[in-house]
Amino acid sequence: MSILPAEGVAFEFTVPVLIIGAGAAGLTAALAAQEAGAGVLVLERDAVPRGSTALSAGLIPAPGTRWQQAAGEADDPARFAADIMAKAGQEPEPALVDLVTRHIGPALEWLADRHGLDFSVITDFRYPGHSACRMHGLPSRSGEELVDRLRQAAESAGIDMLCEAHVTDLFADGGGRIHGVALRRPDGSEERVGCGALVLACNGYGGNPDLVARHVPSLSTALYFGHPGNQGDALLWGEALGAATRHLSGHQGHGSVAHPVGILITWATITQGGIQVNLEGRRFSDESHGYSEQAAAVLRQPEGVAWSIFDERIAGIARQFEDFRQAEAAGVVLTASSIAELAEATHLPLPALQATLEHVGELKALGRPDEFGRDFAGAAQLVPPFRAVRVTGALFHTQGGLVVNDEARVARPDGSVLPNLFAAGGAACGVSGSRPEGYLSGNGLLTAVALGRIAGLAAGGPAPA
Ligand SMILES: Cc1cc2nc3c(=O)[nH]c(=O)nc-3n(C[C@H](O)[C@H](O)[C@H](O)COP(=O)(O)OP(=O)(O)OC[C@H]3O[C@@H](n4cnc5c(N)ncnc54)[C@H](O)[C@@H]3O)c2cc1C
Repeated sequence: MSILPAEGVAFEFTVPVLIIGAGAAGLTAALAAQEAGAGVLVLERDAVPRGSTALSAGLIPAPGTRWQQAAGEADDPARFAADIMAKAGQEPEPALVDLVTRHIGPALEWLADRHGLDFSVITDFRYPGHSACRMHGLPSRSGEELVDRLRQAAESAGIDMLCEAHVTDLFADGGGRIHGVALRRPDGSEERVGCGALVLACNGYGGNPDLVARHVPSLSTALYFGHPGNQGDALLWGEALGAATRHLSGHQGHGSVAHPVGILITWATITQGGIQVNLEGRRFSDESHGYSEQAAAVLRQPEGVAWSIFDERIAGIARQFEDFRQAEAAGVVLTASSIAELAEATHLPLPALQATLEHVGELKALGRPDEFGRDFAGAAQLVPPFRAVRVTGALFHTQGGLVVNDEARVARPDGSVLPNLFAAGGAACGVSGSRPEGYLSGNGLLTAVALGRIAGLAAGGPAPA
């Protein structure tokens, strides 16, 4: 992953706009750049575009959309921006938050009207930290459908896409202008493609253990649950070009991935009144804070695991999620008709487990917060049959990255921009700040789609700089 001198390099061919990565960011950028009038080529290392986008639930937060209006849901960009800033402790760059919250609604309506993506808004469940129902998804509520529909839209629009094309190096001149890229094909052959503008849409560095150890040390031993191809190439190239980076420790983690099978267990198991205990049978945190920050809390426990304990009522709620049904089918959601049976099934020490569950029961009955600050007021009691899953903490994706301006152009520390380099999605610094608790549900696809469209329009516009 190098920056090589462009002088004297011959390219097989040259395209006006070159995009690295065919996830939500890259495909959205491609559709926008082509609409702006430019010829576009998308380069994707995998045989079929998937990315972390396909692993996600495909839910994109957007304020003031026509779907919200039809549902009578009051919302606007300023309100959404306030939610993002509150979740991330006011850390994100306000101008970036303002930019993406204003652009995401029109971007979804454009994808629906121009490219036939059938979005609807989820109104029966409000995600923690969102002050309005603003999560939009396609009918199956899956990221796989989202990336497939974006790919089909790009194909229908006649956009060229080269899969199994792993970009290894960028060619740049002394002024930081990108002249083209080198890519490797599965047979080991190499090609060089020139470009007028380059969009980095190859996500973050969650799949690169060295970069995770450097920037997110609390999750250096965590399971990585995102796309393995996201190796931090955009970050490494940007750094070598002198680009500004920000919030590299920012990320989305998850403290509830069934271990060792690696199936996501919905956080509804906790928010609906469940708890997590360590192998000593003791609680160790305020689980209600959020699933992202709970990843590191679980990893700090003996053997880096915990047991999520809930009951059949909560399992009934969780069963609406495909992942939970898969976990049950895999036999990792244990059942116990008493605390003694639960201790036996989980191999947790009975006295400690019993004391923990009785204490939680008292807190719920009294409606009092516990020593960690969790407020159990209004929470239903856990009653037999109990359900339990052994879980660990996982890293989903990173949220720091290259600093971009209001055209998604990659900036230098002094605020000037690189001449023809753009970044979107996980390649760019997002709006989650530097801490795990800063991630508001949907921040990932928000910056993939909003910045993807902004980058595509600017890169494909009449006069890319
Ligand atoms: C389990 C899980 C659940 C999630 N749920 C949600 C959710 O519901 N809502 C939400 O907003 N976010 C969610 N996210 C986060 C979201 O998936 C990401 O933020 C988003 O998909 C990022 O999009 P992207 O286009 O930047 O990256 P990706 O979709 O990962 O696409 C990047 C592409 O670049 C390719 N690539 C990388 N390097 C190269 C290279 N050198 N050459 C060529 N190609 C390259 C990769 O193969 C990949 O296809 C979730 C993430 C995970 C892991």
